[in-house]
Amino acid sequence: MHELPIVKSVFKTVIAKAEGAGAKKVNLVVLEIGILRDFIPEFVQKYWEYITPGSIAEGSKIEIREIGASASCGGCGRVYRFTKEQMANVYCPYCGHAGGKILSGSELSIKGIEIVRDKQED
Ligand SMILES: [Zn+2]
Repeated sequence: MHELPIVKSVFKTVIAKAEGAGAKKVNLVVLEIGILRDFIPEFVQKYWEYITPGSIAEGSKIEIREIGASASCGGCGRVYRFTKEQMANVYCPYCGHAGGKILSGSELSIKGIEIVRDKQED
């Protein structure tokens, strides 16, 4: 399952950012994941619940926003969208040219973290 190492690295980043911001608890983490990464959101959620206990992110939710795939054609230069299923065999719908430059779909970024700060430190 290729999600686990990524979820672990997201976890490390989230904890570092949250602690840096003086968080007492993490409530929510928003992730943007391109569809070409082939992630299964349920697995990401499951791994999150598996690695967060004992940390300030215990009990937090993880929200996944999927980003669609698009490419710019190597032939006519137009931009088109395609699905995960078409990935192995991408053709421009306008001119039929095979392949192109991937513009989106391989993202993986932490879009936002919702934290609770310790009031005593204010
Ligand atoms: Zn084209």
